[in-house]
Amino acid sequence: MKSQVLEKKVVSAKHSLEIVSLNIEGYEQVLKVVDSQAGLTAIIAIHNTALGPALGGIRIYPYATFDAALKDVLRLAKGMTYKSAVAGVGFGGGKSVIIADPKKNKTAQLLLAFGAAVEQLQGQYICAEDVGCCVEDVKIVRKATRYVVGLPNAKSSGDPGPFTAWGTYRGICATAKHLFGTDSLEGRTVAVQGLGNVGTHLVSNLFWAGANVIVADLDMIKAQKLASQFRVRIASASEILQAECDILAPCAMGAVLNNDTVAKLRCKAVAGCANNQLLDDSHADVLRSRGILYAPDFVINAGGLLNVAAELEEEGYNPALSRNHVNRIYNTLTSVYTISDRTGESTHDAAVALANYRIRYGVGKRVMPPTFHHIIEE
Ligand code: NAD
Repeated sequence: MKSQVLEKKVVSAKHSLEIVSLNIEGYEQVLKVVDSQAGLTAIIAIHNTALGPALGGIRIYPYATFDAALKDVLRLAKGMTYKSAVAGVGFGGGKSVIIADPKKNKTAQLLLAFGAAVEQLQGQYICAEDVGCCVEDVKIVRKATRYVVGLPNAKSSGDPGPFTAWGTYRGICATAKHLFGTDSLEGRTVAVQGLGNVGTHLVSNLFWAGANVIVADLDMIKAQKLASQFRVRIASASEILQAECDILAPCAMGAVLNNDTVAKLRCKAVAGCANNQLLDDSHADVLRSRGILYAPDFVINAGGLLNVAAELEEEGYNPALSRNHVNRIYNTLTSVYTISDRTGESTHDAAVALANYRIRYGVGKRVMPPTFHHIIEE
């Protein structure tokens, strides 16, 4: 990854924070953030703010190298731009990664130092939870910055997981409708990879819809817990992607659709919540050529974004409004499938074109600045 150091500054006396601005083509701002005392090395990437301030989660992950973290955050930030544009929330795309093992190195000091860096951006980047970072962690980040959403309090929207799961479930229904002419999941087989904040709720939604569910997680205890609750079938983490099923729902990490896996898939569609499922955009074409319908991740997994965005509306957070917005994912995804059928391009390309159109013409651009109700009430 080619980057150029633009500027280096020590930010505050309280935190021994150093922020280095990297010049990355196609991105508005990319910052490397280091606080050696707090053990923090992080990257904040702001891809595009044409429609509003950048909003995106904090991922805490033990990346093997800085370049691997940079590559991930750049892809994730760009995905957030597309996701926000298609969801029409009036936000731009951004993301942050903290290079750390969330089980071992996630200290309050580290989270506070990260929050101080977010505060420096004065609202250009608004953060929330993501993989390796829970709402309790976000609560600590909040002590150092006001630019936080998804806090566990009455003024905030809390855990986005159940909303992402519901949006993904509605997207799976739309996918079934496109494939089978009915959106009933009764008797359909859905394989879910990853049983975290989102996957667990998705399995529950699928159970109540009458689907046959196959689950897998690297953590066998999570899989066994769901198996005993819903009597779902467990597959091993190495087998789940090749499970014979109607719909495969990747709900773990990104890049699961790659040269190794796509040829071995035994599903009719891929529709899950994981970000950046395609290793490369070209894998969407391979899926299409194999006759596998692909639900673009940034369209189907927008439920959590829609929920946290609702918190920043002037009138305050209303879960019923969020629910109405999340239910719209069904129609948005159906439109993407229809456009792809008409143009012959992949569903991923159709969704990217839709996002770029909205960005170019300012469709859904934010006119009112976001309101941080948790600050007003404090
Ligand atoms: P999580 O960290 O709570 O759960 C991820 C789960 O996947 C963990 O249980 C982990 O053990 C499992 N896992 C990891 N690698 C695996 C593998 N190879 N095989 C099987 N299981 C594996 O994360 P989450 O919040 O549930 O998010 C899941 C995905 O959805 C992520 O890609 C995230 O970026 C994306 N996403 C989440 C939200 C949200 O609201 N949380 C919103 C949009 C997108």
